[in-house]
Amino acid sequence: MTTSIWKATAQKSNFPPLQGDITTDIAIVGGGITGITSAYLLARSGRKVVVLESGEVGGGTTGDSTGNLYSMIDKRLHHIQSKWDKETAGKVARSRTAAVDLIGELVRKYSIDCDFKRVPWYLFSETNKKDETIEKEIKAATDYGLQVEELQELPLPFSVSKAIKVEGQAQFNPAAFVKGLSQNINSGNCSIYEQSPVHHIEKGDKLVLSTPAGKVTANKVIMATHTPKGIYALQTALYPYREYAIAAKLRSGDFPDGIFWDTEAENHQSMRVYRKNGENYLLLLGGHHKVGQEDHYEKFFQRLEQKARKYFDIDRIDYKWSAQHYKPSDGLPFIGESADDNIFVATGFSTDGLTYGVLSAMIFDDLLNDRGNRWAKTYDAGRFTPIKSAKTFIKENINVAKQYLKDLPGKSEVDSLTEVKPGEGKVIEIDNEKWAVYRDDEGKVHSHSAVCTHMDCIVDWNDAERTWDCPCHGSRFKTTGEVIEGPAYSPLDKRKMISKE
Ligand SMILES: Cc1cc2nc3c(=O)[nH]c(=O)nc-3n(C[C@H](O)[C@H](O)[C@H](O)COP(=O)(O)OP(=O)(O)OC[C@H]3O[C@@H](n4cnc5c(N)ncnc54)[C@H](O)[C@@H]3O)c2cc1C
Repeated sequence: MTTSIWKATAQKSNFPPLQGDITTDIAIVGGGITGITSAYLLARSGRKVVVLESGEVGGGTTGDSTGNLYSMIDKRLHHIQSKWDKETAGKVARSRTAAVDLIGELVRKYSIDCDFKRVPWYLFSETNKKDETIEKEIKAATDYGLQVEELQELPLPFSVSKAIKVEGQAQFNPAAFVKGLSQNINSGNCSIYEQSPVHHIEKGDKLVLSTPAGKVTANKVIMATHTPKGIYALQTALYPYREYAIAAKLRSGDFPDGIFWDTEAENHQSMRVYRKNGENYLLLLGGHHKVGQEDHYEKFFQRLEQKARKYFDIDRIDYKWSAQHYKPSDGLPFIGESADDNIFVATGFSTDGLTYGVLSAMIFDDLLNDRGNRWAKTYDAGRFTPIKSAKTFIKENINVAKQYLKDLPGKSEVDSLTEVKPGEGKVIEIDNEKWAVYRDDEGKVHSHSAVCTHMDCIVDWNDAERTWDCPCHGSRFKTTGEVIEGPAYSPLDKRKMISKE
């Protein structure tokens, strides 16, 4: 089983499911860091808010993240300077600093028990191949009032060529923060419902959100679902990637405080320590790839474990998990009103979304209260940036087009059900229809249409998590067909398959 250290150790929240029909001013879909912080700020400013969460508060990507909070970005500030300009990169750094500071204030104000701590952020290269990246980032960070230092050594068990250190960044337990904040929202102005998936939004003068046991009628909707649910043109500018994580219990030794990013390791790696109840855990993350486009997913965990054991005295790997992020085409997230009137989105956060999620909440609080926001224009969800987006847009959309070729007749992973072993999933073609077939450990076959219910792409079997993952826009489904995450609203179609046993 894969589960994150945060989710495995989090206290259960117990908000009820929605039963019956209600009206509100603002409906927020999703109870991650974006949804809960938005609810907190909007309720504080006197607005009536309802949060609808399909599972548990903090149980989405927020609870699968690393818990690092920083002004810098995964894509690097100097890339934003060259793709956009110095002013935009400055806004990114300053707006993110403000969001990290707000988290610190909320933790203090409500004494949220989430191990929030100020720590430095480091980006380093192991050999001189990436020194130039480090040098450019030092220069960019210095431009924006951050406290920057260049280093040639780090307190790590391997040598580094060059590193940048930025003081005053932070770490916390993300699930504990979100759960803690959800307990401190003005309950006169806000109701939270868990186990209440929104499966449809009827658009009109009022917006009507349907859940299994009730409806919410609202003036405005914030889609805080990590990526917008349903079909939006914006999805051509969002690219889903998965990344892997382990929490390894240290038998001896320790790991220094700080956020450590290795720019040279295969596809970039991130390291931090988490200390709880006398146990020290090394969290190691990395190995990203497009969702649904690998043959074997377990290898990403194995690589992380090998690296951890090479350099540290590891007792055992207590938690392993993977999670998804959405890269934006022009390097900046999309925050604001969508093409649908009165529906607001917050997406394209890459792996920087704990801070961007809180920043989105700050922007929504201003926009929905008719106050100006100095960063709203930079992140405007309706922006059109063909030149800045072109390279990534073309590459990623050719990739999506190729995934549709898997739907061509005759493309089948196996010829008969007998070839699907216990614990395995395969796409099989019967009478020109593609089926996602899973055989459980007891030998029972579970079959669904392999056609993703978002935009008809063929799903792919993920052997590490036993899920069906869509390679086009990142929707993921359980072996029972239910949606786990991504833009799809509906489960995989469960029709009776004519046996090919
Ligand atoms: C491996 C990894 C590590 C990361 N580490 C960091 C980090 O250290 N620092 C950082 O800043 N960022 C990090 N990120 C990014 C960050 O985790 C995310 O960007 C952020 O958590 C997004 O928060 P959110 O609230 O927008 O989405 P989520 O936390 O995913 O919340 C969305 C919620 O919407 C709910 N939902 C979905 N559909 C429906 C529906 N139909 N009806 C009702 N509810 C619905 C989901 O159940 C979920 O709870 C990381 C990402 C990955 C993949």
